[in-house]
Amino acid sequence: MKESECPKCGGLECYREEADVGVGMVYGPYGCPECGWSDDDEYDFSEGKSHLDEKGNLLDQWGGCWPSESIMARAYRNSEQGRYLCLKGDNIK
Ligand SMILES: [Zn+2]
Repeated sequence: MKESECPKCGGLECYREEADVGVGMVYGPYGCPECGWSDDDEYDFSEGKSHLDEKGNLLDQWGGCWPSESIMARAYRNSEQGRYLCLKGDNIK
């Protein structure tokens, strides 16, 4: 795991996934856990893009994809809905 500086927010905890596939290492894009920036435009969430794709799968800034029925994706959907309700003020009395 090699950490580097985020070009977006300056956070120092940017990293990329590494996997040993036998014939060598494969690397995912660099991603920042603080602002959601990714080296790969498709997975760059730093501008407020939703982590959910149209099927409800959860994408992360490291190029990962959690299936819509996975616990991660469900938790994220719940929290996003919670935030939305919060923004609308529905649960603030
Ligand atoms: Zn960042």
